[in-house]
Amino acid sequence: AVSALAITGCGRAETPAASSSGAPAGFAADSTIGVALPQKTSENWVLAEKLFNDGLTQAGFKGDVQFANNGVAEQQNQISAMITKGAKVIIVGAIDGGQLGTQLKQAKDAGATIIAYDRLLLNTPNVDYYVAYDNFKVGELQGQALLDGMKAKKPSGPYNIELFAGSPDDANAKVFFDGAMKVLQPKIDDGTLKIVSGQKSFEQAVTQGWKAENAQKRMDSLLVGSYGTAALDGVLSPNDTLARAIITSVKAAGKPVPTVTGQDSEVESVKSIMAGEQYSTINKDTTALVNHAIDMVKGLQKGTKPEINDPTSYNNGTKVVPAFLLVPKIVTKANAAEQYANDKVLGPLTK
Ligand code: BGC
Repeated sequence: AVSALAITGCGRAETPAASSSGAPAGFAADSTIGVALPQKTSENWVLAEKLFNDGLTQAGFKGDVQFANNGVAEQQNQISAMITKGAKVIIVGAIDGGQLGTQLKQAKDAGATIIAYDRLLLNTPNVDYYVAYDNFKVGELQGQALLDGMKAKKPSGPYNIELFAGSPDDANAKVFFDGAMKVLQPKIDDGTLKIVSGQKSFEQAVTQGWKAENAQKRMDSLLVGSYGTAALDGVLSPNDTLARAIITSVKAAGKPVPTVTGQDSEVESVKSIMAGEQYSTINKDTTALVNHAIDMVKGLQKGTKPEINDPTSYNNGTKVVPAFLLVPKIVTKANAAEQYANDKVLGPLTK
């Protein structure tokens, strides 16, 4: 529920009165808002940069939106600089959610509100809110899509599959994987699915830095090591960038393209889905996520507590972080046109 704080008396929005109900007190309407984004590992981050810049400016704030392409130390420095500039809210899409503790403490001590964006911030009490698509649900949708896609090509198992996960420093990677395994593990246990390489743990499946070249290399060696004569029916891929790398590897090995999952609705992957190669992606509209984060900032500016729809699921190792989760949607060739009907970049699609 949203508890609004009445701003009475002075009539100056930039100096709202402090709350008696424990709601935050608000801040000046033209304050600096920091947005610390990770590396450009997928298109959604590039789009988020533009949307945050435009949206924060339009709302009257001074947006300070930074990418940390050189890694964790750069992101730490960027957050420190945002504190120095007096940022009232710092929105963080972490490269490594466990490596920002010192900066987040300094930010809180300076009076800033911290919003974890898309990726959770780990092992720190100094994170106020989390806004993201439901990551566990993303994994479940991917696991189910893998099963559906393989079944469409071959009505019954056993199916030979391989598992890929995202970068282990990104808190989302394990959540995506766990969601998928909730669907896949029972089918592994009953013999419907066979992981021919035997590499079934998260640690074995990870892709450092979410880098396409790492997924491609691992797929190359899995094919050489385990698929001399065996058919490969499906690959669990956590996102589109890695899905395309996996498909490239399989094609180079002269094998038929298996059922491959994805995430992010990247332009090239949606084309691949329409062409019948990649099987699925996930629609997580970046505009809706950025708008939600900016709405939280607007509320905080007025002294309003942000709306939360999941107060219990995201324990970061130190505290349960109040979350607002948006709903991800599975996309295959069958529903792509409908899913992207209003998407300015992807729509309209014709089958
Ligand atoms: C995001 C995914 C994205 C991945 C790599 C994750 O944290 O949730 O949408 O594919 O980062 O950039």
